[in-house]
Amino acid sequence: MNKNIYGILIVLGFFVSISLQTKAQFLDDEFCGNKEVLNLYIRKKPWKGANSFLYNYLKEINYSNKIDSVRYRVPLKFWIYQSNDASIGIADSTLKRLMNELNYYQRQNKTGFRYYISAVERINKTKRLKLGYFLEAPWQTIIHKDKGCINVYLTKTIKKRVLGDKYIVRGTFNTLTNAVIIQYNTSSTGLSHEIGHYFGLLHPHRNYNKGKAKQESVSRTRTFKRLFKKGLICEKNGDGLADTPAEPKLSHLVDNDCNFIGNSLKDRWGDNYQSQTNNIMSYPTHYRCRKIFTEGQKAVMLYSASQNKFSSSWTTAIAQNNVYKFDRYEPDDSFESAGEIKANEIQSHTFHKLFKDENNNIFYDMEDWLYFTIENAKEKTVNISIITKDTLKTPLKIQILDENRNIIQNTKFKDKLMLHFNINTNNKSTYFILIENKNIPVNQAYSYQVSLRLK
Ligand SMILES: [Zn+2]
Repeated sequence: MNKNIYGILIVLGFFVSISLQTKAQFLDDEFCGNKEVLNLYIRKKPWKGANSFLYNYLKEINYSNKIDSVRYRVPLKFWIYQSNDASIGIADSTLKRLMNELNYYQRQNKTGFRYYISAVERINKTKRLKLGYFLEAPWQTIIHKDKGCINVYLTKTIKKRVLGDKYIVRGTFNTLTNAVIIQYNTSSTGLSHEIGHYFGLLHPHRNYNKGKAKQESVSRTRTFKRLFKKGLICEKNGDGLADTPAEPKLSHLVDNDCNFIGNSLKDRWGDNYQSQTNNIMSYPTHYRCRKIFTEGQKAVMLYSASQNKFSSSWTTAIAQNNVYKFDRYEPDDSFESAGEIKANEIQSHTFHKLFKDENNNIFYDMEDWLYFTIENAKEKTVNISIITKDTLKTPLKIQILDENRNIIQNTKFKDKLMLHFNINTNNKSTYFILIENKNIPVNQAYSYQVSLRLK
């Protein structure tokens, strides 16, 4: 379909969805503006009304919550809106923090996912620092888009205006363009939450203010009966998952210690809510309470990933996917965004395609910055080893620098390098390792392993 017609349809879809929403559902500082447009999304999911589908799926793929086995490595493309002069924007160090937080919650919950940055593109347009929720944001996700990755758009403010009232939306997932849009100042679980939507998760409080046909019951055993179908209400209504307890919107129902304080509230059947406050897909008063994905939620994400059209390039089950592409230490392309390497640690890095500028010139990741810290005052011998199995046409350049960027070592290598030197310091001090690959050819990536020993 013509790109413009597609865009117009999406915009029309948003108008239809606005007219179906009621004003009462919005709050002043809503975390996530995601609404399941027309509810078509959940209606066709195989686990709706039958969560056994999910548990059978986990069994089928030998999932264990005891082992953190990585099943999908999913690339993220960041589109960063910044001011015309780039003075307002997001630093590499902030991007790095966002990625670390995202992968932290995947690791903690053993979701089977890891995310990495495939590219970063900065768009210098002051007027896009405030993205309109209904038209401007969806439109931007249509005109800026990469294939094979999750497109993530970062801007200063996402503003939403409904019937004359203004709202700020911290983040949102657009179900029509499959785009994640978040504000610079998102919470530590903000990206995990929106990507949760990308992989099929709904809010546990979904339809909390609706009638018995749509509201999730507190009871886990209450059943529904239709002409051709029967099952558990908790597997059909709300987020359709039995292992996320029914909950009202938690925005004003969580105390400072993350306790649920809405126990006096009842569902439509008269049962008191006994909600949890720690689910990453919920809206607790304090975002710091959010920590977990349930087994049912992990199953939804893993199953959705297996059905994604890019699944075969993300899965770790295919050996060639494990070569290159993935560098979990990125971004580390500048002094400011250097990543730490600890004593006795071995890290695998790659040089890869990084971003396109406004003239469509492709830039490659040509510098990796690492740092290490020496704790005490005595003289130390530093051993750094760098090895590559690639055949390099031109050598890589290595520099060791101190905190003031004075170069204390400067050398080159083609396959193997062992660097030994002594540091004599009276204070705790930090040193930087710069690995440069200035002659990277188009469409070619290099990988290397770096390790550090201190004696
Ligand atoms: Zn959400």
